Amino acid sequence: MSKNNKSLRVIEPVSSIPVSAPNLSVLERQYLLDAFDSGWISSRGPYIEAFEGKFREFQKVPYALSVCNGTCALHLALLALGIQPDDEVIVPTLTYVASANAIRYTGATPVFIDSEPDTWNMDVSKLETALTPRTKAILVVHLYGNPCDMDPILAFAKKNGLAVVEDVAEAFGSQYKGQRVGGFGDIGVFSFFGNKTITTGEGGMVTTNQPNLNSKMLHLKSQGMSATNYYYFDIVGYNYRMTNLEAALGLAQLERAEKFITKKRENAQIYSRELGNMKDVTLPVEVSYAYNTYWMYSILIKESSAISRDTVREALQKKGIETRPFFYPCHLLPMYEKNGVSFKIAEDVSRRGLNLPSSTLLSEEEIVHICNTLKSIGLS
Ligand SMILES: *Cc1c(COP(=O)(O)O)cnc(C)c1O
Repeated sequence: MSKNNKSLRVIEPVSSIPVSAPNLSVLERQYLLDAFDSGWISSRGPYIEAFEGKFREFQKVPYALSVCNGTCALHLALLALGIQPDDEVIVPTLTYVASANAIRYTGATPVFIDSEPDTWNMDVSKLETALTPRTKAILVVHLYGNPCDMDPILAFAKKNGLAVVEDVAEAFGSQYKGQRVGGFGDIGVFSFFGNKTITTGEGGMVTTNQPNLNSKMLHLKSQGMSATNYYYFDIVGYNYRMTNLEAALGLAQLERAEKFITKKRENAQIYSRELGNMKDVTLPVEVSYAYNTYWMYSILIKESSAISRDTVREALQKKGIETRPFFYPCHLLPMYEKNGVSFKIAEDVSRRGLNLPSSTLLSEEEIVHICNTLKSIGLS
């Protein structure tokens, strides 16, 4: 297998810096063309097993199943855990909408909780207030690369008989107390969308330590085909399979993953060094239990700043620097809002949060340029 990772990035005008861009090399190209040439372009073929095998190794888990995207991975996880209409699943309000949607797909109700002011992850101390007799699971989201405080979450889940799903879409490679996230709960869910730390274009993975959950997910993702009776279908299943072409990309990405993680952390170091003295900006944290992979390098514009987050975004855009505002908290979206429900920390963080360019293709000069631009538009 080729060790040549030379980037094939099309050179864009120097003025245009995207929030994120896939890091595709000659290795991805080689595997992709190999899959293409083999004729195995659908969801069977050797790259599927190779990718899943390498993923198990990387995550140090006994089971990993590839799926067609991160959203269906979440749905599959909740289905395998038996989540049904009338059940409730606790989920942070500050997350990508797919986390809440997947709960809704099962007919269950997402019960939102607020965020911590420093890590922006779900506030573990609020779990108790969200608990009802209908609660069946907690959907933990490791936001923007920062791992959640798993010990108290797992203790709470155990005490109350709840399942735990980890949404690792944004935290591939991140660690909690020295161990990769995704293996703490019952099921770990990954996304390989084009802007994620490793990508297959569209794609996802579910991992578990439990053989029964793995069999259920395999059954559900392959149209409900019986494991023992070929082409006999004994439940209403889904087609949630990944293609061999995507898996070829995934295998190449996984072989280069350690480099991506190191580069994401280097990006963060440069940003933090350059922005560290600014009184208008709050930097992301890495608390003692965390190994943050900074999927996005995220900052808050302080309340006391003379310019708002949105003004900062526009000014950067004019200078050719793309940014992304934080997610709207799910409880403020029309499908999920309820009169009078508010989560103050999540709302505040969402309004002031900004994701800066975070691609593994960024040079140190580009990051310094972004930081200098932030200063030049009037932030101090
Ligand atoms: C990207 C993402 C997903 C879903 O991923 P897709 O592959 O785009 O379906 C789910 N949860 C979170 C937190 C994400 O960031």
